[in-house]
Amino acid sequence: MKISVIGTGYVGTVSAACFAELGHEVICVDIEPLKIDMLNRGVPPIYEDGLSELLEKHVGKNLSATSDYDFAINNSEVSFICVGTPSNQDGKIDLAIVKAASASIGKSLRKKKGYHVIVVKSTVVPETTEKGVLPIIENQSGKKLGEFGIAMNPEFLREGKAVHDFMHPDKIVVGSLDKRSGDIVASLYSGINCEVTRTNPRTAEMIKYVNNAFLATKISFSNEVGNICKELGIDTYEVMKAVGKDFRIGPHFLNSGAGFGGSCFPKDVKALIGKAHDVGYEPTLLRSVMAVNEIQPLRMITLLKNKLPDLKGKKIAVLGLAFKNDTDDIRESRSIPVIKELIEEGAQVCAYDKMAIESMKRIFPDIEYCNSAIDVLRGSDACLIMTEWGEFKSLDKEFNVMKNRLVIDGRHMQSPRKDVDYVGLCW
Ligand code: NAD
Repeated sequence: MKISVIGTGYVGTVSAACFAELGHEVICVDIEPLKIDMLNRGVPPIYEDGLSELLEKHVGKNLSATSDYDFAINNSEVSFICVGTPSNQDGKIDLAIVKAASASIGKSLRKKKGYHVIVVKSTVVPETTEKGVLPIIENQSGKKLGEFGIAMNPEFLREGKAVHDFMHPDKIVVGSLDKRSGDIVASLYSGINCEVTRTNPRTAEMIKYVNNAFLATKISFSNEVGNICKELGIDTYEVMKAVGKDFRIGPHFLNSGAGFGGSCFPKDVKALIGKAHDVGYEPTLLRSVMAVNEIQPLRMITLLKNKLPDLKGKKIAVLGLAFKNDTDDIRESRSIPVIKELIEEGAQVCAYDKMAIESMKRIFPDIEYCNSAIDVLRGSDACLIMTEWGEFKSLDKEFNVMKNRLVIDGRHMQSPRKDVDYVGLCW
């Protein structure tokens, strides 16, 4: 089929490349000329394992990019809205970008003959597709539902494994108001071996939030347990390994550490809290999930100060800036509150990350950045491990170049060792 993908960030670019791989003809649309230019040259605007290869294979054949909505809508049968849905000041979802993209699609749809399905893939709070996107499309296109179709198809991919996850999902959810548009969206995935769960749009929207809120809850729960274990001298990893053997619990997402970040969990939990409020419900548990997550990275500083009470002028090496390994994404990275606090304490911060230095320079232009772990460790008074990059697991002799071999590990990357003063965050 002919597909247009609106918004070429992490979700849009990966979806576009994977739909092309599944044999569809795909046109990407973005408002940033630089991204359009990069995509048309086959260069990924973001880092994702396997994405570069897919773009190389399909750009110039069945994958292209443009900023021209009219062209994209006219030359496709289905449009996926993949633009960002950030939090606003009070934590509620900011739908301005989704609404702007919907208006642009609607305007182009007015000029188009024939049936077209608009699919919301962005994570949006329940009722957005029906009460937000649909009326905008109707107003701008001058058409009524039925003349076009609408659906909600949440995305569950993990950054860093996005291409793999898109091609090998454990669920595909398609929420639609009518069978025709739902059938069309489901058929786009026929090349993927996965059952399609069919719902209405608001249920599909809720499934995405519950999915992320549950995972975030598992993390905050594990962190709280880890904090208690630490006080009792118990290794929380040993505890959770045993707990995870219970089939009702499962072994995944029970690792305690410096908390969750990224573009999804924090904003999605906050958006669900906001939506709960709108309908008159106080979500006590979800609030606690966020509260634990705010405190958790700052425990790194508490542990550091237990060893080095005065951080003024001390050189502190931060290992890891991305919110997790295998991505260059720093959104809501737990390194951010930690670096902020170190700066406030007067420490001299130097940081290293395999991929995220350029992004972090936009937030902290004045700290020092190094190009390798050994460079950042050289002469430092302590190091904080903030991201679970594989290379931090194998650090060994590199610690010898530190002035003071103090390691505060926020991601369970190292184990206690004789030659280093090792402090685990929750273990
Ligand atoms: P992103 O910020 O990386 O990308 C959004 C893109 O939309 C940008 O390239 C931006 O230039 C473009 N854009 C903005 N306004 C536009 C407009 N009017 N028309 C066309 N393009 C426009 O966002 P993302 O991380 O890909 O997330 C997109 C959505 O998917 C969000 O709702 C997010 O919650 C959800 N989601 C993200 C992930 C993830 O891992 N990043 C996973 C699942 C779901």
